[in-house]
Amino acid sequence: MGIPLLDLKAQYRELQTDLDAAVGQVMADAAFIGGPKVAELESAIAEYCGAKHAVACANGTDALFLLMAALGIGRGDEVITTPFTFWATVECIVHVGARPVFVDIEPGTYNMDVSQLEAAITDRTKAILPVHIFGQCVDMDPLLEAAERHGLIVIEDACQAIGATYKGRRVGSLARAAAFSFFPSKNLGCAGDGGILTTDDEEVAARARQIAAHGSDRKYFHDAFGVNSRLDALQAAILLVKLPHLDRWNAERRDAAAVYDELLADVAGLELPVVREYGEAVYHLYIVKADSAEDATLVMDSMREAGIGTALYYPLALHEQGAFDTLEGWDRPSLPVAESCDGRTFALPCFPGITREQQAEVVEVVSGVLGRR
Ligand SMILES: *Cc1c(COP(=O)(O)O)cnc(C)c1O
Repeated sequence: MGIPLLDLKAQYRELQTDLDAAVGQVMADAAFIGGPKVAELESAIAEYCGAKHAVACANGTDALFLLMAALGIGRGDEVITTPFTFWATVECIVHVGARPVFVDIEPGTYNMDVSQLEAAITDRTKAILPVHIFGQCVDMDPLLEAAERHGLIVIEDACQAIGATYKGRRVGSLARAAAFSFFPSKNLGCAGDGGILTTDDEEVAARARQIAAHGSDRKYFHDAFGVNSRLDALQAAILLVKLPHLDRWNAERRDAAAVYDELLADVAGLELPVVREYGEAVYHLYIVKADSAEDATLVMDSMREAGIGTALYYPLALHEQGAFDTLEGWDRPSLPVAESCDGRTFALPCFPGITREQQAEVVEVVSGVLGRR
C-alpha cells in the first residue's frame, strides 16, 4: 500500500453524496457559466477571507493577471517578488509588460526575506507581490510599512495559503488585493481549474470583473480589451460543498506537520520547516531540505521505491529559469538562499486524513537513508 503525496480520492469518498448531488443539480439546471452558484461562491470566499469583494475566474494565474491589469501595473513598472514560488507568479508580471525584481528568501520558511525589501525598491517600483509559500503567511507588517512609505501596491499571491492567518487575520484581507487558486491539489481544490481574487476596493473588483469578461459590463458592449476568464458553475458548486470543511482539513494538515516535526527531529542532515509565531500556517506542502542535492535524490528514490509520493518544490529557482534569457536587458541576480534550495527541498505526504502510521512509515524511509543524529 503506497502513500500518495496527496489523497484526493479519500477526499471524494468523504463528501461523495454531497458532491454528486451538487454536480447533478448543476447538470439539471443546465446553467453552466456564471449564475447563482458562482455569485454564492464569491460571497462565501469574500466572507471567509474577511474581504469586501471576490471575483471568480478561470484559475489562480488569471487571478494574478487580472489584478495586475486592474491595478494598472504595466510597461515600465517593476514588481518585487520572490524567486521561490510557482512560475505563474512571475508570468503575470511579465504578461502585463512589467519587470519582476527578485528579493531573496529566508531559510526555513522559504518566504520573501522582508529585511531585504527596501534595497530592491527603485523609482520604477510599482508593486510588491509576496507569495505565502507552502501555506505560511509572509511577515506582512514590515512589508506593508515599506509599501506605505514608498506608495507601492501590495498584492498577495495566496494560491497556496487559503485559510492561513497573520496576527489573527486570514490571508486575502491583508493587502490591497489577493489571488487564490482552486487547482485540484490546492488546500481548497475544485475538479479542474479555478481561481478567485479578493479585495476591499470596489473599483479594483469591478475592473477585474470587466477585464475577465472581455472588457464588458454589458453584453456586446466593450469598454476595454479584456480576456475570457470565467469560473464555471460546476466548479463553484463543488467548491461550495468543500468550503465548510476547509478549516478542519487545514487543522489536520497542521496536526500532521506537528507529527513530522516530532518524528523527524533527530534525523541527520535534514532541515525541517520553520513556522513563525505570528500566524497559523496551512501546510499546503510539508517541505524538508537535505544537506545536498545528492542526499535529496537518494531519499526521494527510496521513498518512490516504497510507494511514497514526493517531489522537489522547487527544482530550480525562478531567476535561474531559461525563459529569462528571452527577456531583453535581463541581468540574472544572485540570490544565494533561493539557489541553495535547488534540488534539495522536497515534499513529504501531508494531507487531511493521513494516519500516524503512514507518517511513521515515511519517516522510517527518510531516516533509513539519512540516519539519526
Ligand atoms: C498554483 C499557484 C498559482 C497558479 O494557480 P493556477 O490555478 O494553477 O493557475 C500561482 N501562484 C502560486 C504560488 C501557486 O501555487
